[in-house]
Amino acid sequence: MRRWTIGRGWAALALLAAAGGCGRDVPRNAVSGVDGAMLAAAGDGRNWAAAGYNYLEQRFSPLTQINAGNVAQLGLAWSANLPDARGQESTPIVIDGKLFVTGPWSKVFAYDAATGRPLWQYDPGVDRAKGAQACCDVVNRGVAAWRGRLYLGTLDGRLIALNAGTGAVDWSVQTTDTSKPYTITGVPRVVKDMVVIGNGGAEFGVRGYVTAYDAATGAKKWRFYTVPNPNGSPDGEVSDRVLHDRANASWSAQGGQWHQSGGGGTVWDAIVYDPELDQLYLGVGNGSPWNHGLRSNGQGDNLFLSSIVALKPETGEYLWHYQETPGETWDFTATQPIALATIPIGGRPRKVLMQAPKNGFFFVVDRTNGRLINASKFIDHVTWADHYGADGRPVENPAARFYRTGQPFLAVPSALAAHNWQPMAFSPQTGLAYVPAQEVAMAYIPPARPQDAQAHAIGFNVGTDTADGMYPRNAQQIAAATAGATGSLVAWDPATGRARWKVSYPTPWNGGTMATAGNLVFQGTSLGEFRAYAADTGRQLFSYPTQTGVMAGAATYMVGNTQYVAVMTGRGGALPLAIGYAIGRARTVPNMPRLLVFRLGGTAHLPAAAPVEVAALNPPAATAAAADVEAGRQLFGRYCQVCHGASAGGAGVLPDLQRSGVLADQAVWRQVLIDGMLKDQGMVSFARVMTAAQAEQVRAYVIDEANWAKTHLPGPIAPAPSAPRMPTGATQ
Ligand code: CA
Repeated sequence: MRRWTIGRGWAALALLAAAGGCGRDVPRNAVSGVDGAMLAAAGDGRNWAAAGYNYLEQRFSPLTQINAGNVAQLGLAWSANLPDARGQESTPIVIDGKLFVTGPWSKVFAYDAATGRPLWQYDPGVDRAKGAQACCDVVNRGVAAWRGRLYLGTLDGRLIALNAGTGAVDWSVQTTDTSKPYTITGVPRVVKDMVVIGNGGAEFGVRGYVTAYDAATGAKKWRFYTVPNPNGSPDGEVSDRVLHDRANASWSAQGGQWHQSGGGGTVWDAIVYDPELDQLYLGVGNGSPWNHGLRSNGQGDNLFLSSIVALKPETGEYLWHYQETPGETWDFTATQPIALATIPIGGRPRKVLMQAPKNGFFFVVDRTNGRLINASKFIDHVTWADHYGADGRPVENPAARFYRTGQPFLAVPSALAAHNWQPMAFSPQTGLAYVPAQEVAMAYIPPARPQDAQAHAIGFNVGTDTADGMYPRNAQQIAAATAGATGSLVAWDPATGRARWKVSYPTPWNGGTMATAGNLVFQGTSLGEFRAYAADTGRQLFSYPTQTGVMAGAATYMVGNTQYVAVMTGRGGALPLAIGYAIGRARTVPNMPRLLVFRLGGTAHLPAAAPVEVAALNPPAATAAAADVEAGRQLFGRYCQVCHGASAGGAGVLPDLQRSGVLADQAVWRQVLIDGMLKDQGMVSFARVMTAAQAEQVRAYVIDEANWAKTHLPGPIAPAPSAPRMPTGATQ
């Protein structure tokens, strides 16, 4: 069957239909057998039952039909076009021949995993205005399966249980305060018949927490706040005790913007259950605002920001934590994927958790007690700290704390991360973790003007001078910054804390990794390839031209006697939106949202790639007064760049303002910025923070920037068009 359901209306119908039946199992379907025993087991690889494969989240499959000896014969089995040309970050899950994957705006798609026949679709009907509160595109990273249901976190903060057989809503709860800029992009996890979900929003000003809900009914079981309550009161939640005992004193008691912003610490991606030790690990995000000087008067470690926190799953009680970046001030989240393993270190088996977070150090932590085993740099350049001491704390570069020095600090890694959300695989066969790494610089500039130090009603509130952090009007410097933004696949040996091998890429923001017992590692690239490497040596064995960039991680599974590999393709996410120039040549790669599925000897073909037509840069003449251009630059840097690119240099995911036809039309520009003409496409009105005269100053700045770029920035820096509207559905 095939259906397109629209959120709340359908939810109401489902509630009526289920009246009196709350808590009963949904009718038997392909997902009915997914439970704790299945997710705790290594499995035979036929199913890829959770985004990370199973509870260990190694993204490692025991399947060997596709292997290093024959992967060169891999061909397309089927593909499906998806409706939204925004970031595709979802890992498919596959159970009993049914494939479930999510797309932008929190939509869910179900297919027959062998043939690509569409089964059903579900659209939760997220208000497009919510897009303006999504720091990093309107993405979603996948669903969880459990006893016949699928669990979906939506961009607007709902947790929705779907009947996996039909896509019908079984229950839905609002997990966030809708008056605040919370979002959800991460995958829910299910443990002991509870669904655990976090949230995001620390760039805008929220207080992070995770909540556990009864998997059958949606009833709340417990909530754990990751940072203290700014008003000093207990919350009446399970986190009260540890916040009182350990965390409160690590924040400024008086003063500091965390009292208004909520402090951050959102858990927007990694939540991992350890079936051996019966512990739940949270990867906790950055501070809000970033600037530790403004956030907490430069005082304290600010627990549990940028930490891994272990909880008791039944109750959410605190067990232990390890803080990776004390006094976080660079948007160094510890939310990145966490993999669990038991590996020999120093001659004895150690139960470890592994994480390669934004800050550039690969962490191996003893998961029996939270103690650091080793932390080493996994990219060549790390400017904020030199190493970790025996006390488990970083030895910092004093210049990195820009709010203390009062000087700008050019950081690698930066908020864009040495490793972001892109999935990381670990192969127990090779003992190596496969990190989608990158080097992208960013300047942290202490705010000289009071308005940059204050929180505003819309947009990022990070406490740095984001306007002066944009590209300078210097073609050589822009070229150097673009050339210096690179990617790599790092095969990391967690036992020794060193890289075993590495593949370099000319551009950052490449795809997540997936490993198999066939001695393979799969990874897509931002320049439009889906590759396989020998897991032990890094030798490239396979490449498929995807026609578009790949960010997501792959999954593999079997139906009948055939092994398949599935991966989402399409461009988007934080980096292309926020600093388009940095993604370099990948800007000219088209954006084609698809699901691709491969098998040995597959003979399907993608439709011929549409020719890339780059619109000429032909802005109106720059006639505005310099003071208006400068005022517009400040406003653009504050409100516009995180979606439309630093210096208005977009990457072709959202409209490129330098090439926008609206740029020449003062009236339409005002209708968009002030009247909210395009709010149904996610471009909200900025009237709360901008007058019509200021909107005109922003236009003057973009016109000025476009004229400069036309003269000084010759190709190949030209954005790609978004995908043409394509029918949704599978093609054989
Ligand atoms: Ca962040």
